[in-house]
Amino acid sequence: MKIRLLLSCLTFLIAACKPAEQPGATAPSDAPTAVTAPAAKSNQPQVLVANYPLQYFAQRIAGDAVEVRFLAPKDEDPAFWHPDETAIAAFQGADLILMNGATYSKWADKITLPESKAVDTSASFKASLIQVNETSTHSHGPGGEHSHSGTAFTTWIDFKQASLQAKTVRDALIRLVPAAKQAMETSYDNLQDELNTLDDRMSVLSRRLVNQPLVASHPVYHYLARRYGMSLKALLWEPENVPDDKAMADLNGILSGHRARWMIWEGTPAQESIEKLESVGLKSVVFDPCGNVPESGDFMSVMKANVEALEKAFQ
Ligand SMILES: [Zn+2]
Repeated sequence: MKIRLLLSCLTFLIAACKPAEQPGATAPSDAPTAVTAPAAKSNQPQVLVANYPLQYFAQRIAGDAVEVRFLAPKDEDPAFWHPDETAIAAFQGADLILMNGATYSKWADKITLPESKAVDTSASFKASLIQVNETSTHSHGPGGEHSHSGTAFTTWIDFKQASLQAKTVRDALIRLVPAAKQAMETSYDNLQDELNTLDDRMSVLSRRLVNQPLVASHPVYHYLARRYGMSLKALLWEPENVPDDKAMADLNGILSGHRARWMIWEGTPAQESIEKLESVGLKSVVFDPCGNVPESGDFMSVMKANVEALEKAFQ
């Protein structure tokens, strides 16, 4: 093992000095791994995914038939993450790349992915993606400044769209491992049943939401709002920051023409934030879009908790 490691380091050093001249040069996956991109663990087909919902769908559908790898660090928004060279090499060497589409992975504009391997999981509803005009930029986490202008990309919180994305994931996985077709179809059917149940519950709830102006802490709920008839205006707040005077002024600006009683947060806000909102007549409810791996549970348990929280708020 030690010798293999040493050899692979040596080969890497040589390769690094003379990248083009090495006949049969070491594949990028043999290079030392960076912290952000753990190496493949198996000889199974490698499926790389752009976000956590796609990781969850692919794992539920494929089980052990493939190795699903999601490389964005836990504390970053995968939409605005910048993959390092090792992560880029892993994407380029993958057997299948599941992208969210809807301009989700901002990094994908600058990097050429092998066209035959990359699948846009939201392509089937491309014509109905929502365009957003948002002038201001802001930052959350290490990804730097960004804006939410352009195509809204939190596609999967419309649970019908989530089903369509999962279906595209299923079809791509079956093309990759045809022998597992039957098992994958069954797993997809079970997943689709659960997504349909969420969609049904939200549709029932939408009858109560239709006359409720709402405020969102961040502009990520366009598809949720559209499918379930929510009248929602968004701020650029983060759950971990307590709103300052400027933030409260932004909120009051919205409230003057949009008499909301509830604020929807991406994550649990600080107690101080909850109290500040209560002082202007707003209650807080969490709907976590779950773009990255949740602290506990999984995609389905987080979505069930989201729907339950809304049902409780608007009973
Ligand atoms: Zn943002």
